[in-house]
Amino acid sequence: MFDPVDIRKDFPVLGKYVYLDSAATTQTPRQVVEAMCDYFYKYAANHGRGAHRLARETTNHYEDAREAVAEFLGGDYEHTIFTRNTTESINMVALGLDWEAGDHVVTTHVEHHSNLLPWLRLKEKGVEVTVVTSDPRGTVDPCDIDRAITDRTKLVAVTHVSNVFGSHMDVKEITRIAHRHGCMSLVDAAQSVGHMPFDVADIDSDFVAVPGHKGMMGPQGTGVLYLKDTDSIRPTYLGGGTVYAVTEDGYKLENAPGRFEAGTPNIPGVIGLGKGVEYVKALGIGDIQQHEEHLARDAARRLSEIDRVEVYGPSDRAAVVPFNVIGLNPHDVAMILDETRKICVRSGHHCAIPSINLLKVEGTVRASFGAYNLPREVDLLVDTVEQIATTLT
Ligand code: PMP
Repeated sequence: MFDPVDIRKDFPVLGKYVYLDSAATTQTPRQVVEAMCDYFYKYAANHGRGAHRLARETTNHYEDAREAVAEFLGGDYEHTIFTRNTTESINMVALGLDWEAGDHVVTTHVEHHSNLLPWLRLKEKGVEVTVVTSDPRGTVDPCDIDRAITDRTKLVAVTHVSNVFGSHMDVKEITRIAHRHGCMSLVDAAQSVGHMPFDVADIDSDFVAVPGHKGMMGPQGTGVLYLKDTDSIRPTYLGGGTVYAVTEDGYKLENAPGRFEAGTPNIPGVIGLGKGVEYVKALGIGDIQQHEEHLARDAARRLSEIDRVEVYGPSDRAAVVPFNVIGLNPHDVAMILDETRKICVRSGHHCAIPSINLLKVEGTVRASFGAYNLPREVDLLVDTVEQIATTLT
């Protein structure tokens, strides 16, 4: 039975603060921390190297985590590459594909900088980039993507859920359109995996970038790149762990996933991530989605009823609520929420300046929700914002 009050005992920090910043990173359950402590205290060694028992145990735990994450994403083990974060996953695709001058990338106005800058940088190689705009509530129409694709388009790179608006993109339909035109698709799943049902096989995208430290409740410094075809990109880094055979003249790469994970990986982090997906799975993704969206939509509705408060994004939002108190800087609002009630929200441009420009504001306050948040935390947020709006503006 999904019970957010019960869940909170696994997150000691929540006893002291009202944490409404899960879109940036989620809190880490005790079980994940304990799995990482077990690694350090009981069997730490390097992964994949050496025959001794600690190396074998470490490798087994690391690869078990890969199995767990692959299954959680609805994909296959060999196709599940561990990275440091969503940003690294996306950059690995930008750096790993072969680009020629005149190639074309389609992306959107509602991307996080992590799914925009890697494509904009390709302009240095003569690659053209089209940025498709969204409606005022942050939703991109797949038909606009369809129209933007040319016979030189190589890749369509789209976020699943906007971290500024909380809007959803129909990434399955966008992927279908991309494939119909013979191009590839990349889905930035930073705000969706772990917050709603997500199945890489169903979406069928060529590349899926996933954070370990958000919806999957792993530690910071973990992420995943899911590759539909493990031969579609070249590894970004080479070195230990990536090769099958080496001579002075050359090398033969290991198969995936090893060829994409050069050097000593974040072993404790990955082991923690394996525990994180186990934890999220046990809570139930359907219940998590229902709970988070209920809190977010309730907060959005009630905030929008306050005089001088403006709420952005669609009514069928994911767990993200951007807003402003008219006349106040969003950082000041965030600071007051923290100083007066220990409410932790994010403020500013959320690493998505084009989205903020669409709203024609300097930035926003952003409250975002996790499985462990409670209705009383929404009450506190709404009451405090109301006080701020009535006394300070
Ligand atoms: N894309 C989106 C939509 C995001 O919300 C974020 C994090 N705010 C990122 C990418 C970057 O994620 P990471 O910190 O895991 O690199």
